[in-house]
Amino acid sequence: MSIEQKRNLVTSIPGPKSQELQKHRLEHVGHGVGTTLPVFIDSAHGAILVDVDGNQLIDMGSGIGVTTIGHTNPDVVKAVTEQVAKLTHTLFTVTPYSPYVEVCEILNRHMPGKFVKRSALFNSGAEAVENAIKLARKFTKRNEIAVFDHAYHGRTNLTMAMNFKNMPYADGFGPFASSVTHVPMSYPFHDPAGMTGEEAATRAITYMEKRIGGNNLAAVVIEPIQGEGGFVVPAPGFLRTLSAWTKANGIVLVADEVQAGIARTGKWFASEHEEGFEPDLMTIAKGIAGGMPISAVTGRAEIMDSSHPGGIGGTFGGNPVSAAAAVAVLKQIEAGGVLEKASHIESVMKPRLLAMKEKYQVIGDVRGRGAMLALEFVKPGTREPNSAAVDAVIKHSHQNGVVVLNAGTYGNVIRFLPSLAISDELLRDALDVVEAGIASL
Ligand SMILES: *Cc1c(COP(=O)(O)O)cnc(C)c1O
Repeated sequence: MSIEQKRNLVTSIPGPKSQELQKHRLEHVGHGVGTTLPVFIDSAHGAILVDVDGNQLIDMGSGIGVTTIGHTNPDVVKAVTEQVAKLTHTLFTVTPYSPYVEVCEILNRHMPGKFVKRSALFNSGAEAVENAIKLARKFTKRNEIAVFDHAYHGRTNLTMAMNFKNMPYADGFGPFASSVTHVPMSYPFHDPAGMTGEEAATRAITYMEKRIGGNNLAAVVIEPIQGEGGFVVPAPGFLRTLSAWTKANGIVLVADEVQAGIARTGKWFASEHEEGFEPDLMTIAKGIAGGMPISAVTGRAEIMDSSHPGGIGGTFGGNPVSAAAAVAVLKQIEAGGVLEKASHIESVMKPRLLAMKEKYQVIGDVRGRGAMLALEFVKPGTREPNSAAVDAVIKHSHQNGVVVLNAGTYGNVIRFLPSLAISDELLRDALDVVEAGIASL
């Protein structure tokens, strides 16, 4: 499928056909399933979405960092088409098939750390996190889990307990899983001025020692760059110091790479940006299969093998069609050029975002890595969250055909997760639209 990589609006947003479909949807789809932008998408390619009214929108969200490789990437389309005509299901734990093993092999090869690795496949990021915790508890014979302020790990019962935000993820959905404790995160923009990563780690470690006890912790779970929390990049030294402490205390360190992993930040995994940070397990999902649902836990063989046979699995986990798509994505990254593209996007976007920060007092912080960049909005002259500004800029962007997403505990962050297939020209066009939205505040 070829779609011209150009923004083009032929109706107002949402157009009449989208409005009609949205009405229909509200009659039939449960209202707890929200919508950021009620525009119905008919097709997509690269970084362009085409809606049912014929509008072409620039996708700066990639379905929350999922179509990293680009919409309808030809290799993914081919792999899926071939696989779907050959075999769609056996249940891997009944009778296995090769694409599952191939995904595991490639992930094992690229996870950082000089130890023997194994992987297991699931359907969603939350399911991967759940399984990482099952394995960490089985391996350590301990119960307690530590997670960080502003974290996001999913929508299942256990992961609801691991998220920081009550609304919209948890409100009224309890009771929640026990044995989960939130710990102070390194958040350079809001931490005391000059606080180093090591100091922020000591703050978190002291908290865990006092509140839980290192000997009771099965796992510490951390996003190396927080996703929903607002692309919070911990200060240098934070992850490394945390890693040394978990190792010394026999705690399984889980890097939740669901949003930041798989080429998004210019490396296979965001964990690789800090030397000395050595997770034992990683959870992987979103960007791994070009939009097909599949997730993984990858990590130390002795932890991955600690479950009795049959303890880990699920009916659809590592589905052959999704696995074939994942192989196609992973092989493209191996072939070269993809990681470089993420770094290139950073080199185009970051100077532009920093220039906006100089110009507009509502922008307090610019942060992120690779094609995972964000603006934090504040009330001018303060560090107080300004979600009204974010709402206005997002509304302006949507009306002008640029799909951008918010993030952050206070909803005061605009995050950019463009496809790595995006051209410089489209990126600039999208940023022009966003900047016009900020200028009009
Ligand atoms: C999205 C996300 C999850 C949950 O993934 P789902 O596929 O929606 O279950 C977990 N962790 C992080 C860091 C995420 O961004």
